[in-house]
Amino acid sequence: IIITPDEFKSVSEAAREDGRAPDEIRPLKIEAGILERADGSSYLELGGNKILVAVYGPREAQIKKLQRPDRAVIRCRYNMAPFSVEERKRPGPDRRSVEISKITAEALRPALILEKFPRSVIDVFIEVLEAEGGTRCAGITAASVALADAGMPMKDMVVACAAGKVNGKIVLDLSEEEDKRGEADMPVAILPRNKEITLLQSDGNLTQEEFEEALDLAIKGCLKINKVQKEALKRKYGE
Ligand code: ADP
Repeated sequence: IIITPDEFKSVSEAAREDGRAPDEIRPLKIEAGILERADGSSYLELGGNKILVAVYGPREAQIKKLQRPDRAVIRCRYNMAPFSVEERKRPGPDRRSVEISKITAEALRPALILEKFPRSVIDVFIEVLEAEGGTRCAGITAASVALADAGMPMKDMVVACAAGKVNGKIVLDLSEEEDKRGEADMPVAILPRNKEITLLQSDGNLTQEEFEEALDLAIKGCLKINKVQKEALKRKYGE
């Protein structure tokens, strides 16, 4: 194929490596309630990410130290399968997974009506089967569906999406390749109804204008993803 320099310029300016527009998320699929034994569950695919979430509870906290007299406690475990990345990942927690587990619980907590279940615990297990960039956001999005599937009373869903900067451009939902090559990656989680932000991280440098553009774009991405969350729950439970 021969393309002229002008054509090359317009293609390279418009498109990302995988051909997406700057404000386009990767193909997304969410299913609710796919595990029999868990109280709630979900399965999510976003581009090359494949993530399974299981929720248990609310149930009485066995460990007394964990109990709160006035509310339930949410615990999250984010885990990457050894076969989820190019080179085999050493099984077990590491610094990254401990951090992601913590920020995931913090991102989900504001949506949950925890006061209804004193002395209880809610466990959220996020298993990354295949990873291709943006797994913390995809995990939060999937966990919210699994919590709803478990019948957990919630003020709203929680939905997450990253925006970032690649080749000087603000783009939505970075792939692993874009995350590696790019200048910045900014995961955001919100409660879609009032747009309360429950997670905001940033890896890389953005000017204030770029930050504002990225935040707007991430919120737009979240709202798109929220529609897919709702569709997944509708398919399982009807209107
Ligand atoms: P996130 O998945 O939320 O974007 P990071 O920015 O830390 O989190 O990771 C970006 C991507 O790098 C991951 O989605 C995954 O595809 C890849 N990755 C993370 N940890 C490893 C690892 N131990 N080995 C290989 N690839 C990894």
